[in-house]
Formats: sequence, C-alpha cells, structure tokens
Amino acid sequence: MTQPTQIRYCRQCDKPLHGRSDQIYCNDTCRNTFNKHKEKETKTPPHPNEKQIFAIIRRNYDILQRLYPWPIRPGRYEYVPRQNMPHHFNRNFFTATHHTSAGEWFVCFDRGWMIVGDRYHLKDFPEKSSLTG
Ligand SMILES: [Zn+2]
Repeated sequence: MTQPTQIRYCRQCDKPLHGRSDQIYCNDTCRNTFNKHKEKETKTPPHPNEKQIFAIIRRNYDILQRLYPWPIRPGRYEYVPRQNMPHHFNRNFFTATHHTSAGEWFVCFDRGWMIVGDRYHLKDFPEKSSLTG
C-alpha cells in the first residue's frame, strides 16, 4: 500500500516544499524569520515599573554596602542604628528573603537586613545571589 503524497508547505511563507519529508521551511531565512516572530509574540512586555524597581533595588544594595562596606563573616551580623539608615532606603523592594526563628531577613543580592528594635542588623547571604544555586 502506498501513502498518497502529501504536499507540505513552508511554515513561514506557505510555498510548497520539495525536500525531505521532515522539511518544515524552504530555507534558513524562512526558519529564522519564523523564529524571530515567534519570539516576539511569546515575550511578555516588561512591567511599566521595571526600570524604576530595578533602580530602587540597586540603590538599596548601594546603601546596605555603604553602611558596612566589608564582607560580613558567615554566621555573624553587624548593625547600624535605625537613624543612620538613609531616608531613600526603600524596604518594599528586595531580591530574596531568608526566614529564621528570629524573624525575616530581607536581601538585596547578597546583603540582607532585619530590623531589631532601633537597629538595622546587616548580614551577608552569598547564596542568595548565586546563579548556580
Ligand atoms: Zn518559506
């Protein structure tokens, strides 16, 4: 029994294909054009506040580093009086949290803070900014 020959068409330009049975596009140009369009369609547009929020997180990180510019030894924390925290530090934006029995640490990249009484405790969390886990 022979299968009827099915005419296949290029996924991008709809021209009939004459090559191998698994051919999907006429050529690389059609393949690239198709994939480029697909990429555009599937990409979610950025949130309107994206740039501002990234800038706030970057500024928070900068403030946290300037308050204590040295690496904090693992297992230790440093602290600064609450009144030393610049007013433009924005506690609503951070990149990670770390829950402990003492409370929640908020982390910008690898520097975290926790408010304890009238102090900001500062602690380093290198694992929170590691891309390899
Ligand atoms: Zn084509």
